[in-house]
Amino acid sequence: CGIVGYVGSNKSVEVLLGGLRRLEYRGYDSAGIAVIDPEGELHTRKRAGKLQVLIDDLDAANIANGSTGIGHTRWATHGGPNDQNAHPHLGDDGKLALIHNGIIENFAELKAELVAAHPDTVFTSETDTEVAALLVGLEYQKTGDLAEALRNVVARLHGAFTLLVLHKDEPGVVVGARRNSPLVIGLGDGENFLGSDVAAFVEHTRRAVAIGQDQIVTITSDAVRVTDFDGLPVESQEFEITWDA
Ligand code: GLU
Repeated sequence: CGIVGYVGSNKSVEVLLGGLRRLEYRGYDSAGIAVIDPEGELHTRKRAGKLQVLIDDLDAANIANGSTGIGHTRWATHGGPNDQNAHPHLGDDGKLALIHNGIIENFAELKAELVAAHPDTVFTSETDTEVAALLVGLEYQKTGDLAEALRNVVARLHGAFTLLVLHKDEPGVVVGARRNSPLVIGLGDGENFLGSDVAAFVEHTRRAVAIGQDQIVTITSDAVRVTDFDGLPVESQEFEITWDA
């Protein structure tokens, strides 16, 4: 039920956990993060229960100092609240991680098509989300471009979604998409943020950009690019967060 993304020079784990903390008021049953470390490895940790359960797990794992990451708190709709169903979900043989708020209404059809085309596909959860992660992974194998891969998949999704995705072969990039579910950019200095709500990043910046319906955003540490689902550039309006955080 909460989403945060980060690219910059700070430790993304701290930014992500801080953001998820600020989104806790929305309620959730599980939490997870994925981070790309300075060596380019992708690390994912996800746990059912309170954020503190994940935090204890991260302490034990001594997760690396990656500066690209995504974080999620889940409110289960498809599949019970357990570690396997928590987000992120993986695609492209574990090289890609994806988080999702919302419901993919046609996931059963997409899953059936996926299994028909790739009968050896292994599912590790009961979620609608994992189907999207696997599909974006397959598109990445074809296109080698994360934004294009996500664009090709969202065109096939029905329902409500905010999606964030990262890939170890694009280490300084987070790509997001939204339909019927919110996503906001936070503009920093040498760092940029994504959040399902400005609360996710307001402690770091008050400069924000709302992403419109059916749009895709790519953030790096020093650039933000928004397009529609056809890949055409979109003009977006910056605003200042004025409320007291
Ligand atoms: N439908 C997804 C799931 O059940 C996402 C739920 C959410 O919005 O947190 O895992």
